[in-house]
Amino acid sequence: MSAKPLVVENLTIHYYTLEGIVKAVRGVSFSVDKGESVCLVGESGSGKSTIGLAIVGALPANARVLSGKILVNNVNILELSSRELEKIRGRSVSIIFQDPAASFNPLFTVGQMLSDVIRYKLGIHDKEELKKKAIEALKNAGLPDPERVYNSYPHELSGGMLQRAAIAVALSTRPDILIADEPTTMLDVTLQAQILELLQELRRKLGLALVFITHNLGVAAGVCDKILVIYAGAMMEFGPVDEVLVNPLHPYTRKLIECVPRSSVRVGRLKYIPGSLPDLRKLPPGCVFAPRCEEAMDVCREEEPPLIEVKPGHFVACHKYKR
Ligand code: ATP
Ligand code: SF4
Repeated sequence: MSAKPLVVENLTIHYYTLEGIVKAVRGVSFSVDKGESVCLVGESGSGKSTIGLAIVGALPANARVLSGKILVNNVNILELSSRELEKIRGRSVSIIFQDPAASFNPLFTVGQMLSDVIRYKLGIHDKEELKKKAIEALKNAGLPDPERVYNSYPHELSGGMLQRAAIAVALSTRPDILIADEPTTMLDVTLQAQILELLQELRRKLGLALVFITHNLGVAAGVCDKILVIYAGAMMEFGPVDEVLVNPLHPYTRKLIECVPRSSVRVGRLKYIPGSLPDLRKLPPGCVFAPRCEEAMDVCREEEPPLIEVKPGHFVACHKYKR
């Protein structure tokens, strides 16, 4: 029996569309300990959000999980009925999004929304108690005037305050796992840093297992214990943050690192990786990164490289490394 709050094993997810089957996630495995943070890093469209949505049991209707397990506190949520899943969602695992407004109904105040979540998930009905819990959640999310935020409508709050309020909603039921899907992308640099700091603080204080989703390896570096680099739905590299950043093994990881802007260097243009993600409905044979890889060999266009453990805890899927 695993003691980890979250274990994802060999997860494969397809989307069914009129244009064909989108192979969004292929054989992804990772786990997150109590108080640990794992970053899912990759370009837009690489399957990060699909993994996040699967963990909270909120995949769109046209998605199918073809294989794998998602163990939340040892329970495979893929085998649960929608009723059982509803109990786990919010109670054991919560999610925050890039756009905090997505977590709120514009017709309700933050306080009404928070109270509803706490009433429904924690079964608290006493009005005074509900308000106390809601104010406490807003305070824990670092909102300096929680009473005012409690009485505000979402549109009355700035982006940074609304993201803090969304964090308050997500954590109000004391989940074990938090999925943070690009939570700072819409904020300016100063607010980004504040929200990242808040998530770190809450992770430590509450012992949260944090899955942090980002396209920015620079952001991942400041937040995570482990990094999982994803490309075209598959794992390219996985390991402790220092290992992956100081000693990156996969050519794609190295390209992502080159793309992180260095504030000390004046650069006229942001770096990017030439080429684009393959069409997930028609994946190329062999290594999915081969069409963009400067180090590709013949074998790369024929055989898909397996994920191998090069050093203890440091995995890579690339033909340059032997078992
Ligand atoms: P982003 O940062 O842009 O959200 P991502 O890495 O999170 O990207 P996903 O959003 O998981 O990637 O998308 C993975 C792939 O699945 C993409 O090709 C996307 O277009 C496709 N996709 C996502 N949702 C659906 C859907 N409901 N139906 C069909 N295809 C989808
Ligand atoms: Fe590049 Fe080949 Fe490694 Fe793929 S397997 S990343 S193409 S060297």
